[in-house]
Amino acid sequence: MSEIQEVTETEQEAVATSGQTSPLTAGDRCDSCGAQAYVRATLVFGELLFCLHHATLNKEALAANTVHWHDESDKLLAR
Ligand SMILES: [Zn+2]
Repeated sequence: MSEIQEVTETEQEAVATSGQTSPLTAGDRCDSCGAQAYVRATLVFGELLFCLHHATLNKEALAANTVHWHDESDKLLAR
């Protein structure tokens, strides 16, 4: 049995994010508090995952170094 991940990302999305963005999962944890992450911040010096709370807290401070702000908070609101 091999684990092959199905790629469902649209081409448009891949282009917009340089092919670096994959959906966040329940296993992705906030780097600040360990809650489930809904935001992936791609920064010039690396990547950070945030829950909504810490994403809001850090967004402005990181803005100057943010390459891509991947926000899946829609998922949370859609429940
Ligand atoms: Zn957090």
